[in-house]
Amino acid sequence: MGRSFSAIVGFICCTSVILPLVACQDEDVSPRQSSESVAVEIKSSIRLPIPEEAPVVRVRLMHVVGNLEPVVFAKDGASLRIEDDHGNNFNCKGPVTIHRDQDGWLIRCDQKVPDHIHASNSLNLSSADGIEMTDDSNETRRYGGIIQCLAVPDDQKIRWDVIEHLSIEDYLPGVLAGELYAHWGKQCQAAQAIAARSFVSMSCAERTGRRWDVVDTPASQAYVGQVVDPLTHQAVSMTKGMILTWGKELVPGYFSSCCGGRAATATEAIGPNPINSVKPLNGHGKGAYCQDAPLYEWERTVDGSELASAIREHVGKESALSGIQDIRSIRIVENNQHGRGVRLSLKDSSGRTHEMTAAALAQYSGALPKGALYSGWVEGQTKSGSLHLSGRGYGHGAGLCQYGAAAMADQGKSFWQIIEFYYPQAEIKKAW
Ligand SMILES: [Zn+2]
Repeated sequence: MGRSFSAIVGFICCTSVILPLVACQDEDVSPRQSSESVAVEIKSSIRLPIPEEAPVVRVRLMHVVGNLEPVVFAKDGASLRIEDDHGNNFNCKGPVTIHRDQDGWLIRCDQKVPDHIHASNSLNLSSADGIEMTDDSNETRRYGGIIQCLAVPDDQKIRWDVIEHLSIEDYLPGVLAGELYAHWGKQCQAAQAIAARSFVSMSCAERTGRRWDVVDTPASQAYVGQVVDPLTHQAVSMTKGMILTWGKELVPGYFSSCCGGRAATATEAIGPNPINSVKPLNGHGKGAYCQDAPLYEWERTVDGSELASAIREHVGKESALSGIQDIRSIRIVENNQHGRGVRLSLKDSSGRTHEMTAAALAQYSGALPKGALYSGWVEGQTKSGSLHLSGRGYGHGAGLCQYGAAAMADQGKSFWQIIEFYYPQAEIKKAW
């Protein structure tokens, strides 16, 4: 397989980039209680309205801190138009290097840059041929939208973002290529397109106070810029404008790599936000289409004191978890209605037990020296000085299971059937 396995994951809310709509739950919140009390209050109102037209998506490709490293655009020599936020513009040929100091932009290219552009707050770069750029992960990619370089207000440091603005339908092929293996079937790609379109529509619906909607990593959903693979384009065009709805509401199209055979509900996996308590996000029924996934079941050995310190790093001093020591065992103390372990009891070297949600453990484990656990649905105990964990699934387990969707497509199921299985009672609406 050409792509590393780690690229295939729909983790949401597990890194520093957190969608404001999607409150990461912490260990002190009981998701079940919260969702019930909130559901009573908002029964008659629409939580997330269905969009009426196709949004322009703003994807943050890069966040630059400091003024040492310039960013290079259009290394391939493409013609670029550069415009500032007052409408002043000029044309040049790549490569163009851009960075920023206290006074403004420093632009180097084959033309003399008009002086007044230097002091602008933002720059818009456009090119008929797409703009080549090497992103944060050192991948060189081509972007077809308008690339905005936008200064971030900060008294201490020079900071700016590189944000692509493009139509949602142009954005989606680059998500399919980033999220799925290219050989996965067309019906799976189409189901993923509907999920990804619904997910980004949620991000676009709540854009107050933020200058971008999604990032290009699995913290939102992976996105690799322009792609040539005809399958991704077919999957997007055959589902054009189709989004997940429930009554008059948009359903956030959460997805993850492998559910481990038992679904999470979005409330327990993502957070107790009212938008997560819609019926289609309460988990799919029986049937483990993903049982052949590499991480359907897995084993991992971790250092119990490193895991304890990863947890302490995330929780405040007031939290009961701030005193957790070398972890000796993890036990599942609550399963959800589908049989997925959602609440854990951790026993430490002092003999004390600490309870937390599986979702919280997955999030906190991101600080482990060798990286996060594949999921928080784990149990295990110490043998010969290390904590031996058995876990299931990869990612949060809510909504569509990517490996399961691929297997369903292989078995001849349509994208309608895949969506029906993973988002029970959702309707597919063609919004544009
Ligand atoms: Zn699954």
